[in-house]
Amino acid sequence: MGKIHELSAQVSNQIAAGEVIERPASVVKELVENALDAHATQVRIRVKDGGMSLITVSDNGDGIASDDIPLAFARHATSKIMTGTDLFKIGTLGFRGEALASIGAVAKVTMTTSTQNGLGDTAVVEGGDLVKQEKSSQPKGTTLTVRDLFYNTPARLKYMKSVQTELSHIADIVDRIALGHPDVAFTLVNDTKTMFATVGNKDWRQTIASIYGNSVAQALLPIKGDTLDYRVQGYIAKPEVTRASRNFISLLINGRYIKNYALNKALIEGYGTKLMVGRYPVAVIAVHMDPLLVDVNVHPTKQEVRLSKENELTSLITKLVGAELGQQRLVPNALDNL
Ligand code: ADP
Ligand code: MG
Repeated sequence: MGKIHELSAQVSNQIAAGEVIERPASVVKELVENALDAHATQVRIRVKDGGMSLITVSDNGDGIASDDIPLAFARHATSKIMTGTDLFKIGTLGFRGEALASIGAVAKVTMTTSTQNGLGDTAVVEGGDLVKQEKSSQPKGTTLTVRDLFYNTPARLKYMKSVQTELSHIADIVDRIALGHPDVAFTLVNDTKTMFATVGNKDWRQTIASIYGNSVAQALLPIKGDTLDYRVQGYIAKPEVTRASRNFISLLINGRYIKNYALNKALIEGYGTKLMVGRYPVAVIAVHMDPLLVDVNVHPTKQEVRLSKENELTSLITKLVGAELGQQRLVPNALDNL
């Protein structure tokens, strides 16, 4: 008698959740990315207790059809890719079909969704199982309510930091996604208090002002340029406005917020000696490229990517930043005094 058996969907989803859903901010990231993939123009996020007791993400996007609801919560089920070759040209933020299955396995989830104003469904997932699905009436779009995150995974629950720390991770990820999507109105509410809201009127500078404040927004310089493979656009703050950490640099690749040391370094190099030691710029940089040139299938959270021709992109960023700051006269030129 063999001793190998397949794990239940519940257990395999819990294992996947360990990678995809590290903390409340991971839930927020996945749900907001789903909203953007569904073409939402308004995304409202509300959390309680640093997201541990409640996370609600509401969007006015496409909604999910009744028949698709069970599949939405199934692992490796997605509407975003079909074949292996699609992996080389990913145009959406999601594609792994793992987020809802993972969240459903480690939290109590309610979803209301509608593809058409007035008609829709309410679904409840507990312990990874779809325990209820019934017709309900709501506006077009989707609302996911996630309660009691990690209630059934005590080891992960213990690992959570303070409410304040979890909240700051949530605010950080929403900030960065909002910074890269000036065409979408984001609202982040902590319990009943609005932490920030963007208007979604496509005005990038105003979006940055909503998040970093007017003094930063006023110190912004635009950068824009391209090579054969890459198009770079963004805002960098003048060297007078710096921060003590790299956390105020946001990089987006084809609309996806990513972490990339080489690109951060390229930006900082563009500032050259204009940055004091230990000080870092405030910047939002959006890169657009053929999806063929970027592999986002590196890690389940998709925050790490592999770029082909990375050097071409890093030199472009350094050059654009250097050129923009070079035009800015920081100290009077010695010749001016002659
Ligand atoms: P992925 O985003 O990788 O496809 P998810 O588990 O995050 O996987 O979502 C599964 C599917 O559920 C998506 O492919 C999409 O069709 C649907 N979906 C999830 N969230 C939303 C949403 N907010 N609006 C519309 N459809 C959604
Ligand atoms: Mg997703």
